[in-house]
Amino acid sequence: MREEVKKDVLTVVYSALFLLFSIVVVLPYMVQFSTYMHERAHYTILKSYGVDAAISIDLLGTIPDFFNPKTEKLGVTRFSLDQYRQLDKVQRTKVNTAGIVSDLVVLSFAALYLALTNVYFFYKVRFTRDYDFVWILAVNWLLIMWVIALMQITIANITHEAGDVYMLVKYLAVP
Ligand SMILES: [Zn+2]
Repeated sequence: MREEVKKDVLTVVYSALFLLFSIVVVLPYMVQFSTYMHERAHYTILKSYGVDAAISIDLLGTIPDFFNPKTEKLGVTRFSLDQYRQLDKVQRTKVNTAGIVSDLVVLSFAALYLALTNVYFFYKVRFTRDYDFVWILAVNWLLIMWVIALMQITIANITHEAGDVYMLVKYLAVP
């Protein structure tokens, strides 16, 4: 095989392996991280109101759980339902929306990074004429995958019957 062709073939193989690895291994752990932040937000508010709570996360099960359609989350906050029901409706709203707020904060940071990277990208190409940006593209790819996954999770969390919003409404009594 000619040297240049060999180089091109290797580039394609490495790129394909990177894409596969990023989706099968890296993405699940990125989503695991945002899930932990989400659960920690619920946990912190629950604790501040004196409700017994604990975060449960299984780092060994992250990859199989991520691809299992029956697993709804990569982590969960267990808490005393009796103590939760002692809270007033404003306190319960704070507990239930804390996770969504955490997800939106993570999304905001990812968006900010992508915006700044865009400026850096422009600078690199326009002023330094440096066209080596394979790492910028690799990190952007991972972040964009993460943003898409997190937006889908947030939509599900707001619209699903077992999500945070429906759980809040479910326990509120209507006069
Ligand atoms: Zn939640």
